[in-house]
Amino acid sequence: NPVRLSAITAVEAFVPPPITFDPGEEPGQVFGANVFSLTVMQKRLPKAVYKSVLSTIEKSTPLDPDVADAIASAMKDWALEKGATHYAHVFYPLTGLTAEKHDSFLDPVGDGTAFASFSGKTLVQGEPDASSFPNGGLRNTFEARGYTGWDVMSPAYILENPNGNTLCIPTIFISMTGEALDHKTPVLRSQQAMSVHAKRVLELFGHDEPDNVVAYCGPEQEYFLVDSHFFLSRPDLLNAGRTLFGAKPPKGQEFDDHYFGAIPSRVLGFMMDTERELFKLGIPAKTRHNEVAPGQFEVAPMFERANEASDHQQLLMTTFKAVAKKHGMECLFHEKPFEGVNGSGKHVNFSLGNSELGSLLVPGDTPHDNAQFLVFCAAVIRAVHKYGGLLRVSVASASNDHRLGANEAPPAIISIFLGDQLADVFDQIAKGGATRSKEKGTLTIGVDTLPNLTKDPGDRNRTSPFAFTGNRFEFRAPGSGQTVAVPMVMINTIMAEALDHCATTLEDAVAAGTDFNEAVQTLLAEIVADHGAVIFNGNGYSDEWPIEAEQRGLKNLRTTVDALPELISPEAIALFAKYGVFSEHEAHSRFEVGAEQYVLAVAVEANLTLEIGTTTILPAATRYQTELAQNVVALKGAGIDADSSALETISSHVAALRVGLADLSAAIDHEHPADPLESATYMRDTVIPAMASVRAAADTLETLVADDLWPLPTYQEMLYIL
Ligand code: ADP
Ligand code: MG
Repeated sequence: NPVRLSAITAVEAFVPPPITFDPGEEPGQVFGANVFSLTVMQKRLPKAVYKSVLSTIEKSTPLDPDVADAIASAMKDWALEKGATHYAHVFYPLTGLTAEKHDSFLDPVGDGTAFASFSGKTLVQGEPDASSFPNGGLRNTFEARGYTGWDVMSPAYILENPNGNTLCIPTIFISMTGEALDHKTPVLRSQQAMSVHAKRVLELFGHDEPDNVVAYCGPEQEYFLVDSHFFLSRPDLLNAGRTLFGAKPPKGQEFDDHYFGAIPSRVLGFMMDTERELFKLGIPAKTRHNEVAPGQFEVAPMFERANEASDHQQLLMTTFKAVAKKHGMECLFHEKPFEGVNGSGKHVNFSLGNSELGSLLVPGDTPHDNAQFLVFCAAVIRAVHKYGGLLRVSVASASNDHRLGANEAPPAIISIFLGDQLADVFDQIAKGGATRSKEKGTLTIGVDTLPNLTKDPGDRNRTSPFAFTGNRFEFRAPGSGQTVAVPMVMINTIMAEALDHCATTLEDAVAAGTDFNEAVQTLLAEIVADHGAVIFNGNGYSDEWPIEAEQRGLKNLRTTVDALPELISPEAIALFAKYGVFSEHEAHSRFEVGAEQYVLAVAVEANLTLEIGTTTILPAATRYQTELAQNVVALKGAGIDADSSALETISSHVAALRVGLADLSAAIDHEHPADPLESATYMRDTVIPAMASVRAAADTLETLVADDLWPLPTYQEMLYIL
C-alpha cells in the first residue's frame, strides 16, 4: 500500500534533532532553572516575607495580602528576566487535563506606552470563565465565573516556547460559591484532614507538636512511543488515543525481550531531551527503562508532596507529548493503545510523613518506632478494607477498563499485599499474646518487645493492586493517562478516617487508664480482626481469587459503570462530609462528570469505528473481493478449474463486517437514556459489544486481504519501527 510504504520510507529517512547541551554544562546544573523555587524566593524576598511564605507552606497559615504583593512583584521581575511576556493561572479541571488562561504582563498606560504590572491580587486570584468545563451540575448557567487561586505549596515556573515564554502559576479552580471544579482543591482539603489525625497519632507516640504530615506520591509513568508517520495515518490513534482495529502481530511480547532491554538510540535521545526539560521545571525524573510491550517505556520521577507531584505529573505528560513531536514520534498515554500487548499504568507509590520524621511507613530501629509503624500500617489496612470501593472508583475510566483485571494489571478487586514478614506479624497480632515471629524469634505483642523488622521486605508481588514495598505502599491500579490527584484524594481521605479511628481509640483507652502499650496491642488486634480480609498475598491473576474474594466480602467492580456509584454511596457521602473533602453536592457532581466522560469517550470511539470501518476497511476488503471474483471469472474463461474458496471466505467476512457496521450504526442512533449512569450502562452493554463485532470482522479481514491493499499501518509497523 503506497501510504504505508511512504510512511516506512519516511521513518527510515528521519534524522532525529540534535540534543543541545550548553558546553560545559554540569549534569543537574539546569535543575530548577525555570522554577520560582524557595531558593529563588529566599534570594529575592525580604526575610520577613520569605518566612511568611515558608510558614504558609509548612504550617498552612493563610497568605497575607501584603506578602502576596511582595511575592508577586519579585515573581514578575524574575519572570521578565526569564523572557516571559505573559502569565497564566494553570488549573486542573475535571477533564483530567490541564487548563491555562494567559494574560499579558503589560498594561496599556494613557500615553500609548505599556507598563508591566502584576499585583498580589492577580497572583492569588484569577477569574476564568468556567462555563466550558465539566461541572456535573454544580454551576448555574447564569453564573459562569470560576475562580482560580495559587497553591502556594506548588511553585510557579516558566514554560519555554520558541514563540514566547509564559509564567505559569499552579492554581485551584472553584465556583463562586466555593465548590471545587477541579482536582487540586480536594487534594489540598484531604491532605489537611489526613494531617490533623496523623498528628494526633504521632502525639500519642510522644512527638511534641509534630509538623504537618503530608502524603508523598511517586508516580511511575508508562507510555508508548509511535513514529508520527504511522500515528498520523491512523485516525483511531489520532482521535481516540488507541487503535480500534488491528490484527495481532506474528511477534508480540511473548519473548520478554523488550523489558529492561537496551533502549533504542532514537528513544534514548528523546529521553535525554525530556529529562533536560523536566529538570528545568524542577521535576526530578530519575529512572527510565523499557517496559514489557514493544514500543513501551517508563519514567519515574522521585516522590514529592502529593499536590506538587500531581501538578508535576500533568506537566510531565505535556512535556513528553511536546518533546516526542520534536523527535518525530507521538507519545501515547492511553491505558490500552494496542490490543494483545500490555497496556500502560501509572503506579502511585505513596507514603505519609514530613521532613522532620521521614516516611511513617518505614519499620523503625526500635520496638517503639515499630509500634508506631504498625499503627500506621494498620490504618492503611482499615482504610483500604472499608473504602476499597473509593480506591476503585478513583481509577475508573473507559480507557482504564481495558486494563484492570486483564491479567497484566491488578484485578479490579482491591486487596492489600503485605509481604511475608509483615503479614506474619499481623497474623501473630490477630492471634494475640506471646507468639513467635517467622524470622525474628519471640514476639510478645507488647510494644516494648515488638520485633525488629527488616527494612527490605524481600519478596515482591506484581499482581496486587495495593502492595507494601518496604517503605511505602504502591497503588498499581491507576491508569497511565489519569491524574494522580484523584487516587491521592481518596488515599488521604480514607487515611484521615482510619487515623482518626486509631487516635480516638488510643486516646480513649489511655484516658480510661489503660497502659498505652496494651491499648496499641488491642487496637492492632481489633483492626486485623475487622479488616484482615483485605490482606491477600497470593496471585491476583488466578481464576480462584475472584471466587475467594467474593467469599471474603470484597467487591469486584469490573467496569467504570459498576464503580461510579461508590462515589455517592451513603458511607462515601458521610466520609467526605466529615473530613471536609467533598460536599454531597460536589460528590454528586463528580459522579455525574465521571459518567459523562465515560459516555463521551465511548461515543467518540463508536463513531470512529463506524467511520473507519465504512470508509477505509470495507472499501479495501471489497476491492480485494472484486479482485478475487475477477480472478475466478478469468480462470473459468481460460478453461481452468477455478477454486473459489478464498472468494467465499472473504465474502463471508465482508458480510459480517457489513452486518456489524449496520448494528453499530443502529446502536449509535438509538435514543440514549437521559440519566448519566443509565447512559453509561447503555454504552457498556450495547455500544461497546457492537464495536467489538465490527473489530472482529475487520481484524480477520486484515489477515486475509492482500497486503498492498490494506490501508492502515499494521501493529507490526507501529510497534516495531521506531
Ligand atoms: P519499582 O519499579 O521498584 O516499583 P521505581 O524506582 O520504578 O520502583 O519507582 C519507585 C517510585 O517510588 C519512585 O517514584 C520513587 O520516588 C517512589 N518512592 C520511593 N520511596 C517513596 C516513599 N517513601 N514515598 C513515596 N514514594 C516513594
Ligand atoms: Mg513499581
